[in-house]
Amino acid sequence: MPMPIYEYQCAVCGRRFAHFWRSMQAADQNPSPDCPQCQSPETQRVLSQVAVLGSLGGMTPTEQRRQEAQQQRLASITSKEQIDKLRTTKKKD
Ligand SMILES: [Zn+2]
Repeated sequence: MPMPIYEYQCAVCGRRFAHFWRSMQAADQNPSPDCPQCQSPETQRVLSQVAVLGSLGGMTPTEQRRQEAQQQRLASITSKEQIDKLRTTKKKD
């Protein structure tokens, strides 16, 4: 089963972060996760830039490099948050 990763942005401090969900249903039924930086619940799901750029078709080399850098950044953020999430959800579920 695919485990979706959504990107969120905090309305208070502007921090962008990726959140790892256990299922599509969990992502749709739960409120946005709190900001990992300021713990504000005022976060909104944002369209991934990767998805948006991909739908537009061709990218310039600069855009490709930026996308790769962002994917690497997201991957590193996600793996850390994924561990935290798994730790907390184990008790809850
Ligand atoms: Zn914040």
